Amino acid sequence: MSDVLQLKPDMLLSFWEVSLVAYKITDACISCGACVSECPTDCIAEGDPIYVIKEEDCIDCEACVAICPVNACEPA
Ligand code: SF4
Ligand code: SF4
Repeated sequence: MSDVLQLKPDMLLSFWEVSLVAYKITDACISCGACVSECPTDCIAEGDPIYVIKEEDCIDCEACVAICPVNACEPA
């Protein structure tokens, strides 16, 4: 088989990385803090005046989306 057609592990990882959608927190946030303990990568922190997501650490799991009472977590 031609080398050109062979998929390598680092190519698959790159595809997975570009397929991720980071999340952000909108102005709808009421700063309840419920999302912080749900995030598996600890990328949500209290901000001023609303909570913020460190987008480079977000793995697109949507746990924050599920717990937020005001639907403030959206794709960035
Ligand atoms: S989608 Fe998952 S990883 Fe990203 S901020 Fe929300 S809980 Fe954290
Ligand atoms: S759960 Fe929603 S309202 Fe509460 S801090 Fe997180 S983003 Fe803000």
